[in-house]
Amino acid sequence: MQAKAVFRFYEELNDFLPVERRKREFEIEFDAPVPVRHLIERMGVPHTEVELILINARSVDLQHPAANGDRISVYPVFEALDVTPLIRLREHPLRDPRFLADVHLGKLARYLRMLGFDTLLAKDGVADGELSRLAARQRRMVLTRDRALLMRKEVTRGCYIRRGRPREQLAQVIRRLDLGDSLRPFTRCIRCNEPLQGPLPKAQVWQQLPPRTREAFAEFWRCSACAKLYWRGSHFARMQAIIQALQGGLLRDDVGR
Ligand SMILES: [Zn+2]
Repeated sequence: MQAKAVFRFYEELNDFLPVERRKREFEIEFDAPVPVRHLIERMGVPHTEVELILINARSVDLQHPAANGDRISVYPVFEALDVTPLIRLREHPLRDPRFLADVHLGKLARYLRMLGFDTLLAKDGVADGELSRLAARQRRMVLTRDRALLMRKEVTRGCYIRRGRPREQLAQVIRRLDLGDSLRPFTRCIRCNEPLQGPLPKAQVWQQLPPRTREAFAEFWRCSACAKLYWRGSHFARMQAIIQALQGGLLRDDVGR
């Protein structure tokens, strides 16, 4: 049955829409019944970016059918501030966040590992289907700048990564998932994502250390997979600065340029 509904998207969800549909109500035609998710994605907004849907002022889930005459409001993760009595589309916050970053987000993946988050980086040439199945199997959130990937059925958790420097992208993920209190720096290998062992006494790693490092540092960590050694050198100081900025809420879009 031919039907019409009025949509309004809020805040950053507007970025996915063509200019003439941003921040205003607009009408679309469709064949009813259809799950509201299909209409939202047909307009270019991945379901993973939506936190709350109101149809005629009542909250519904993604599978709810849209009907003729509906007024549909769609909110992103951050605009739905106090939605406790409403249907949230996913559990929040994530208790044990794990990620799968697409191949273009290598720097973001290394930052997340640096903060202790289990983050796989997809290999070059891996097909979208394979990547999304891996994410589903291992319950990982997909991080990508590819909207079509987030619209795949198998992807239940995802985060569209906005254009920007890797540190800004990191801040985006930490803010959106409210991970500021879950950072566990120095627990994971930045190179291969495996847990670090340590702190290890100096005697245990003495042979592998450059002479100046032997003198300057007392504690060391070792990757359980690749055996790379870590100590609290200059990279650690940089990491501390990033963490402080994240926890202080300082890493907004305009910081660090
Ligand atoms: Zn390693």
